[in-house]
Amino acid sequence: MAKVNIVGSGPAGCILAYSLLRDGHKVTLYSDRTPDQWLNHSAPTGTAYLWGETIDIERQLGMDFWSSDMFGGHGVLFDLAAHVGDAKPKTMKGLFEYGREGCGIDQRMRVHRWLEDLEGKGGKLEIENVTPARLDAIALTGDVTILAAGKADLANAIPRDAERSTYDKPQRNLSMAIVRSKSGRHVREWFSDRWKYVPTKFDFFADAGEYFWVPFQHKTAGPSYAALFEAKPGGPFDRFNGLKSGEEVTDVIIDIMRKHTPWERHIADDVEYISEDRHGWLVGRFPPTVRQAFGRLPSGGLVMPVGDTAIAFDPICGQGGNFANRSAKFIADRITAHGDSKFDEVWMTKVNYLLWAKYGNNQCFFNNTFLEKLSPAAQLVVDTSCANDDAADALYYGFPHPETMVPAISDMKVARTFAARHGFSHKDSGA
Ligand SMILES: Cc1cc2nc3c(=O)[nH]c(=O)nc-3n(C[C@H](O)[C@H](O)[C@H](O)COP(=O)(O)OP(=O)(O)OC[C@H]3O[C@@H](n4cnc5c(N)ncnc54)[C@H](O)[C@@H]3O)c2cc1C
Repeated sequence: MAKVNIVGSGPAGCILAYSLLRDGHKVTLYSDRTPDQWLNHSAPTGTAYLWGETIDIERQLGMDFWSSDMFGGHGVLFDLAAHVGDAKPKTMKGLFEYGREGCGIDQRMRVHRWLEDLEGKGGKLEIENVTPARLDAIALTGDVTILAAGKADLANAIPRDAERSTYDKPQRNLSMAIVRSKSGRHVREWFSDRWKYVPTKFDFFADAGEYFWVPFQHKTAGPSYAALFEAKPGGPFDRFNGLKSGEEVTDVIIDIMRKHTPWERHIADDVEYISEDRHGWLVGRFPPTVRQAFGRLPSGGLVMPVGDTAIAFDPICGQGGNFANRSAKFIADRITAHGDSKFDEVWMTKVNYLLWAKYGNNQCFFNNTFLEKLSPAAQLVVDTSCANDDAADALYYGFPHPETMVPAISDMKVARTFAARHGFSHKDSGA
């Protein structure tokens, strides 16, 4: 059995720790925050809407205490406007995983519980803000050291992979606030006049950016929505820079909704920030980044990345939190399968590229497609999915399983076949 160090206590670090403990390894988890700091004094590191299949990883590891009561979403209600001011957007309605429930379950609540329970499961929890020099020392002490520090500065111990990283700059300016109904109604009513399912609501403006409403299970307020803005820099949604509170972010969200999505005005009138949570909001930006398979530290020790440290996805297609769970489980299984052999750079490179082939490559392609002006093939797939709900279900199955949709969104011949199969003529498309 291996002695494993994990640095970083977000979902990726915790799932990796629990998977390894279940398999009998010796695990030390380094966290810069105590469980109480995670729960009461931290912002969520992201909204992290998880698909049912991803929550299954937590169920299988005995880490899921919330999904039976979560505010489950079923799919996406998507309004697609050509430009800001377009009063007649196209609409698409499709189910994730053909209707399995997912949710953004508050990461602070999940991580708090997982850290509280860790030592009872046989792990060791060290509360320490790990510096590069300490990481160097830690990496010499175990059989393998995994860096799960998200997008924090410490992630730079593993170099960016220029070949696999499409971008070197942030593609959107991001903001997020967790909100509820001011009038006390259940938030599922916000969109129920338009769809019988609970949606992630997606508003897409080709020229300005996107905003989402993500079904969210807040740590104290329960059913709520995380409103997430993806503003194109310099565009009309790019108004969040420098805001200082959840209330300020929510005021700008409401103002943008009133101006740009008149069809959601009644919701704008009912939205309020969850004011008892001083940390339920985010404003920032980062370049989507893929890192190399390992970092070599000054003393010769090696560290390998997991979760956001391995691939930091722009949140546009909700891939990052799902990849955190999947990559952690994937790496844990490879460590167990490796037995008593040495965890050297050859092994780390192999595991990293297998992870890339299984999840990362297609997830990046899928995500990047929606960050860019849609290619003709992607446009045809989107237009087909607006016209046909079965096609939309197939497109949204592509969120958790991008390998099923990448051929169609990247190749016009396959896109035409997809359109024809759903009775849509490419002549009716803007593609
Ligand atoms: C606005 C926004 C919305 C998002 N929406 C979605 C979504 O809908 N669906 C989805 O799947 N994903 C989403 N994501 C992405 C998702 O939140 C992340 O991918 C996920 O949180 C990554 O988990 P992680 O464990 O890799 O990193 P993190 O959650 O960032 O955790 C890393 C942790 O490591 C610890 N750490 C850092 N540095 C040190 C150090 N020096 N010493 C010790 N500990 C350290 C910190 O406690 C840190 O929190 C969103 C992200 C953002 C920003």
